Amino acid sequence: MTNARKLSNFLTDIVEADLARGTNGQKVVTRFPPEPNGFLHIGHAKSILLNFGLAAQYSGKTNLRFDDTNPTTEDTLFVESIEKDVQWLGCDWGSHLHFASDSFEKMFECGLRLVRDAKAYVDSQPVEAIREQRGSFERPGVDSPFRTRSIEENVSLFQKMREGVLPDGAAVLRAKIDMAHPNVIMRDPLLYRIRHAHHHRTLDRWCIYPMYDFAHPLEDGFEGITHSICTLEFESNRELYDWVLDNLGPWNPRPRQYEFARLALGYTVMSKRKLLQLVNEKRVSGWDDPRMPTIAGMRRRGVTPEALRDFADLIGVAKNNSLVDIGKFEFAIRGDLERRAPRALAVLNPLKVRLTNWPQGKVEELNLPWWPGEPARGGTRRVPFGGELLIEREDFAQTAPKGWKRLALGGETRLMGAYVIRCHDVLRDASGEIAELLCTYDADSAGGNPKDSRKIPGTLHWVHEASSAPAEVRLYDRLFNVEQPDAEGDFLQHLNPHSLKKLGSARLEPALRDAAVGTHFQFVRQGYFFTDPVDSSPGAPVFNRTLGLRDTWLKPAEAVEERKMETAAPEQKLKLPKKDAAGVLAELESRSPALAACFRRYQKELGLKPDEAELLVSDEHLSAYFDSALAVHGNAGAVAKWLSNELLGLLGGSPLASSRLSAEDFGRFVALVDADLLTPTAGKALLADLVANGGDPQARMHALKLERVDNPGALDAALERVFEVHAAEVARYLAGEKKLLGVLVGAVMKETQGAADAGSVRKALAARLG
Ligand code: ATP
Ligand code: MG
Repeated sequence: MTNARKLSNFLTDIVEADLARGTNGQKVVTRFPPEPNGFLHIGHAKSILLNFGLAAQYSGKTNLRFDDTNPTTEDTLFVESIEKDVQWLGCDWGSHLHFASDSFEKMFECGLRLVRDAKAYVDSQPVEAIREQRGSFERPGVDSPFRTRSIEENVSLFQKMREGVLPDGAAVLRAKIDMAHPNVIMRDPLLYRIRHAHHHRTLDRWCIYPMYDFAHPLEDGFEGITHSICTLEFESNRELYDWVLDNLGPWNPRPRQYEFARLALGYTVMSKRKLLQLVNEKRVSGWDDPRMPTIAGMRRRGVTPEALRDFADLIGVAKNNSLVDIGKFEFAIRGDLERRAPRALAVLNPLKVRLTNWPQGKVEELNLPWWPGEPARGGTRRVPFGGELLIEREDFAQTAPKGWKRLALGGETRLMGAYVIRCHDVLRDASGEIAELLCTYDADSAGGNPKDSRKIPGTLHWVHEASSAPAEVRLYDRLFNVEQPDAEGDFLQHLNPHSLKKLGSARLEPALRDAAVGTHFQFVRQGYFFTDPVDSSPGAPVFNRTLGLRDTWLKPAEAVEERKMETAAPEQKLKLPKKDAAGVLAELESRSPALAACFRRYQKELGLKPDEAELLVSDEHLSAYFDSALAVHGNAGAVAKWLSNELLGLLGGSPLASSRLSAEDFGRFVALVDADLLTPTAGKALLADLVANGGDPQARMHALKLERVDNPGALDAALERVFEVHAAEVARYLAGEKKLLGVLVGAVMKETQGAADAGSVRKALAARLG
């Protein structure tokens, strides 16, 4: 795996301890063991990246193992899709491909060995009776009447099971452990069952199949797995895992099972059964529908493996289950696409604009950068401009509402990279719908910058009608409209009816007509788009919206104003039930007098609000962390605010200890923000970096060039560097090419890493260049 950031979590601690002790001959062998009964989803991606990442980090290896012990639901189609998805994620199993079914013979021998050792028996009762006899947590189990069968009889019956003379359900093989075992799973668990079914690999050779709890430890043992990582639901199965291995060894290495929290993501279902249902009932177009949380769906939507990896790094690996805010996933996607997707012009819902003073028939070829604001990246394309244009229907209002920054009747606006226009008339069709806007353009505003530098309220994207390319554009949104669709009732009732909108009349700038399959663009002011890998072809483009530019789910859909040059982590607010402070205190006193004392101190001495204080005392680690940070930086309000609004949000339910940021460094971080060395946006970016990578806050701030530069010295330095590197553009600007101002502003912004605001940069540049 390439470019993997170093993992650091409780599993790396375990591996490092094993390596230090010389356990397993200092080998690290992990496996990813999917059952080929569906497509992989984002939860699997987390597990894949963890297993492959962990082994790679310690020069070990990872097996891809198909856990194909359940013939009725499995299929070769799924085997193929899983291999493709794992590869796409950048994980390489080399020659280490395994199928559980390849070991059926060895597993059968293990079963036989247990029988011969009087550690397993054939039970001829129906499974319902067996389940009934298992008892419960409060009630011990009841011995099966077949528990005392002789070894000879068991050997012969187990062989009969295999030979196919018994029908499905007539008998099972059970381990003989203890029907009163405190762990219910250990009460003579099933090891084998009869199933006369066709298997996609072993065909009709077998009619008995091993149960997961028997097969899994054996597969791990046969393959020489050292660290067998699974999700938390298997915690109580670990005892059986160990029993199987201990009674069928020796093993070298002896595998050990470790559990981590499975990924649960808001607005998503992750159960394969439910995903299958969505596919079978045609609620989506297939496993690779871009709204599906499957790897195939995400790939088709335009999510990249790097974004998935960034997301996995962001959420980390924890030992307690929690629901991850989908905003974090979207944050990782936006961060990745922001770097990857060149900007282009596309009008999704066109409205015609006719420039009445444009010379008849004239077409001007503009040369626009693919990466505005990042001149160093270079690359431009020609964009025609003429007298008949298209703008977004939503960008026009006959009467401008208050604060409107787009086009209105009688008002002016800037067409991005082109000219300033003014609307003086509206033509309507027979039905009264606006059919066309009659506008004039300001010939002295090339590049969108009027000569007299009067203020123009907004900047719109546009295309030239005659040369534009028609395209189908698919706007995808979340598949469900509630955060936990399977929390109660039928998950299907929470399907978002607006999760797919197909636009038939979108028009693209001509450069996109032949867009290659699998390319990303940022449609300016609209979002990140990706040519559909299945339906798009050069000449007939079909674009999927991967994601909008901003999270429209947190705030009511505000008018999309000019984008600010910042990417901020979505705000995470922790909601607390309303309780009165006295009630909280009484409850705390009975639970932990120490925390109750903190609760009082935070309010009385530090002046925090009751809800802030309540959050901080929700557990000892949190309040201790807060106190230690406070010892470094004494502004309680700021420390509490950054802790509750940002840090906990970034951790998304993972324990504070899983962050690489110590409380002291967190205090130092807040001190930097408090000293106004960073803008809040830059502060959020720095905090996310510190949580993921650790390090000294000030040093990281410098390394990432995040410090605020609106102090004149820093801005001057940035200007100097830009004047040097872009001497040619400066000369052209001074010679009258005023539209280059935007390029220069972008260059300075880039030089300051977005720590300066565009307005002051523009002012400073204008002042320096006269
Ligand atoms: P099922 O067993 O119900 O068919 P599954 O999602 O457990 O579904 P598997 O094919 O058994 O599917 O999973 C393969 C691996 O992926 C297992 O090791 C499992 O622990 C891991 N895995 C599955 N779902 C998640 C998840 N949501 N988060 C993290 N890991 C997961
Ligand atoms: Mg499973």
